[in-house]
Amino acid sequence: MADLKGRVAVVTGAARGIGAATAQRLAADGAAVAVLDLDPAAAEPTVSAITQAGGKAIAVGADVSDEDAVNSALERVADELGPVGVLINNAGVTRDNLLFKMSTQDWDTVMGVHLRGAFLCSRAAQKYMVEQKWGKIVNTSSVSALGNRGQANYSAAKAGLQGFTRTLAIELGPFGINVNAVAPGFIATEMTDATAKRLGLEPEKLREETAKVTPLRRVGAPQDIANVVSFLCSEDASFVTGQTIYVDGGRKL
Ligand code: NAP
Repeated sequence: MADLKGRVAVVTGAARGIGAATAQRLAADGAAVAVLDLDPAAAEPTVSAITQAGGKAIAVGADVSDEDAVNSALERVADELGPVGVLINNAGVTRDNLLFKMSTQDWDTVMGVHLRGAFLCSRAAQKYMVEQKWGKIVNTSSVSALGNRGQANYSAAKAGLQGFTRTLAIELGPFGINVNAVAPGFIATEMTDATAKRLGLEPEKLREETAKVTPLRRVGAPQDIANVVSFLCSEDASFVTGQTIYVDGGRKL
């Protein structure tokens, strides 16, 4: 378990799914957590779960692809909780389609949230981390970075995040900042439920089918990702940087 007492964490896209589980895990590790999402009201259940468990959290509304909104959000976090030391770039969307049917808008939306969003949040957060000579950034890639039919936009963004991770690790390492990525496989969330619907399947059916082709014979839960994020933010991982850890039940093997 990471010891994050006295640290401030920002988790983007934390209203639900992997982000919500990660926010709760980092709060259990001792961090004060900014639960950032598009709609601050949607982030309230995560905040309540943290405070009811004895932790500290605030809801912060921001679109991670909006430069002014990101800068204001990080300033607000510094005012209300303290300077950010942990940033989890988790917010994500899918706009799947085969290349010949993919609209420019759907390409730009996915790039905007995943790549521009991680860039804007990391740039805004690093100044606080450099001042503290301590920081942890974890980006959220995906097994789709290796290629996935119907996801030219998403796989390009998730592969891009791996290069972004390595470069930030080089630039920020001298300031005591670790930068890593997690690459989830199939995790049961609203995102994968939406994928099931697009494929004309019940979510439970897609989970069963996916479990059958996964070496560990199950799909992932949001906590599976939160656990690895917590490890990457811990002292035990203090010599790990620039890495992408696949958390996929062996799916990409
Ligand atoms: P999810 O359940 O769809 O949750 C994503 C959250 O991000 C939502 O609360 C969403 O808010 C928020 N969000 C979207 N656009 C945003 C923006 N521009 N600014 C701020 N917040 C925004 O997704 P998830 O399954 O937990 O996925 C979390 C991350 O893991 C994503 O980066 C995803 O690509 C990645 N991932 C997921 C899986 C999987 O199997 N689930 C696999 C590999 C990677 P709204 O509800 O308002 O849109």
